[in-house]
Amino acid sequence: MGFSTRQIHAGVEPDAETGSILTPIYQSTTFVQPSVDEYLSKGYSYSRSGNPTVRALERKLAVLEEGFDCTCYATGMAAIQVVMQACLNAGDHAIVSDVAYGGTYRLSTKVFARFGVEFSFVNTADAAEVEAAVKPNTGLILTETPANPNLKLTDIQAISEIARARNIPHAVDNTFLTPFYQRPLELGADISIHSTTKYFDGHNATVGGAVIAATEELDEAIRFIQNASGVIMSPWVAWLTLQGIKTLSIRMERQSANALAIAEFLEAHPKVSQVAYPGLPSFAQHDLARRQAAGFGAMLWFEVQGGVSAGKRLMDSVRLCTLAENLGSVETLVTHPVTMTHADVEKAERERVGISDGLVRLSVGLEDVEDLIDDLDQALEHV
Ligand SMILES: *Cc1c(COP(=O)(O)O)cnc(C)c1O
Repeated sequence: MGFSTRQIHAGVEPDAETGSILTPIYQSTTFVQPSVDEYLSKGYSYSRSGNPTVRALERKLAVLEEGFDCTCYATGMAAIQVVMQACLNAGDHAIVSDVAYGGTYRLSTKVFARFGVEFSFVNTADAAEVEAAVKPNTGLILTETPANPNLKLTDIQAISEIARARNIPHAVDNTFLTPFYQRPLELGADISIHSTTKYFDGHNATVGGAVIAATEELDEAIRFIQNASGVIMSPWVAWLTLQGIKTLSIRMERQSANALAIAEFLEAHPKVSQVAYPGLPSFAQHDLARRQAAGFGAMLWFEVQGGVSAGKRLMDSVRLCTLAENLGSVETLVTHPVTMTHADVEKAERERVGISDGLVRLSVGLEDVEDLIDDLDQALEHV
């Protein structure tokens, strides 16, 4: 069946007892066992180890990403942490995309490095650089594509081939495109990671994460950490996310169409020096974007002439676009990575990966695109 049908129906069945069309919120710590012999016969014991509402979301996401199974987490960062814990030991080495969500860089350098894991932040857009960075003790390749915030793409298939030949798991942070537009496991990756906070929820209501594994062996190793480290998603968040996902495809389509229209408007604007959107023919990796994804997503960035101060004036002048540190929701949000999402990344490191001081990131929402363009037009008059 098609994606829109699966996003509504997969993983969810009417409640056997009441007929409730929505999976109930199983707000319960513990589950009563029929007898010692039948311990776990219904599948649940304690909500840190598994919860029926969370399980419905896990089943849905496993179907949408076409993986073996899925585990869900308190946040997207918890999901990334669990993948690292499942794949890496002290003394191991990991390759991580040089441009990635700021929290991923912080978790690597400030937490896992303390436990004896060594990291290489590599330009994963170049497969040869990844190949050259592999060491005998490399235990994980973690890529993010399109990457936050500069939208650099990684060729998932090329990196998966390098990883597979050396028996190293390749995990892809697929938050920006979702399985509606991009399916890393189909392209050869072993693990797909999501911050469900973004497009799956879609309404700025929850923080959550998900990990979809291609094989039973990987899913088991990851599920073990989900329980051992106690980072499972709550049933409330799972329930809200289950509702959000039902409209994922139409939100993605409309938000992406809005993003393309805005990117074209900005590219033609005299006060804008650069626009990056994978759907623009001027985007350096436009061909790769067309090849590995079915759509371009709703994230874009641009640079206003006049640097930091012009960028700040622009953000102070928008009225409909909201200055806020999230993405993927129905509201259009504008972010200044240097002072917001990437404030913890050292300046030298930011410059090395091309996050300039004037870069403005736009997460395009579901508003009427004419209203969004009018707002950006009036704000650009103030810079
Ligand atoms: C937001 C985000 C994360 C972290 O997710 P949280 O839910 O905020 O913990 C990880 N990766 C990407 C690409 C993100 O956008």
